[in-house]
Amino acid sequence: MNANIGEGACGGYTRLMPELPEVETVRRGLAPAMEGKRILHVETRRGDLRFPFPENFNQRIEGARVKRLGRRAKYLVGELSNGEALIMHLGMTGRFTVAGAKPGKFHHAAGADDKHDHVVFDMQGGARIVFNDARRFGFMDLWALDDLENYAPFAGMGPEPISNEFSGAYLAEAFRGKKAPVKAALLDQTMVAGLGNIYVCEALFRSGISPKKLAGAIRRDRLEKLALEVRKVIEEAIAAGGSTISDFSHADGELGYFQHSFQVYDREGEDCVVCGKTVKRLVQSGRSTFYCAGCQRA
Ligand SMILES: [Zn+2]
Repeated sequence: MNANIGEGACGGYTRLMPELPEVETVRRGLAPAMEGKRILHVETRRGDLRFPFPENFNQRIEGARVKRLGRRAKYLVGELSNGEALIMHLGMTGRFTVAGAKPGKFHHAAGADDKHDHVVFDMQGGARIVFNDARRFGFMDLWALDDLENYAPFAGMGPEPISNEFSGAYLAEAFRGKKAPVKAALLDQTMVAGLGNIYVCEALFRSGISPKKLAGAIRRDRLEKLALEVRKVIEEAIAAGGSTISDFSHADGELGYFQHSFQVYDREGEDCVVCGKTVKRLVQSGRSTFYCAGCQRA
């Protein structure tokens, strides 16, 4: 199994981390157990994850109803009836299991070490939702629902890549005059939210755009193609995640979410699936870029 689900920022060390499609898959898996239901009881088994839990975390959310479970970039956002937003981030190894309710495709056998079960939500309707996080880079936070645009990670964040706001016209405006390579521009969270390294590589390949091309120098018709391919690559990954996440069974809590076949990502030295030229790798802003010089000429 290909273990390169995500990539850390340091050196060539490859780490595994949920990207936007995995987070959306988790959101879809959790929604039936949470939406419209009250949080009857919360158990936090330690004082912190990556950050300390907010003050009076349990008391503040117990009894509240989850009106909707949304997502912003790689953050899950539970919109609570008491006016708070329950913000949850999976970090690198965070994952949820649902028991006591029909979990749908999201459910997987609880093979993980339960000493890493840090938060337990007992929901109205009988679902028990457990957050397990071996490395504890994940976290939970509370913020006023009507003030989310001022929540620090969301402030200045660009549009979601699968929203209507994200388009060729938007890219033309956002990239105007930009001297940064398009690869770096697409990883900039103020340009587009939550787009990870893997999906930027894939979308540039599918658009025929060189990762080295300056963002401000890309023709408008290419930007239309790029916006389309960004959306498609994310949507395909979400669809793949939804169909294979039930196969997740690794006890180390690191592998999983889903395996997706990539056309250039992590294929350095292999033949391009389109033109047969050798896929290359270069490092841009400390991140590996995989590309085909034959296909990506624009
Ligand atoms: Zn090629």
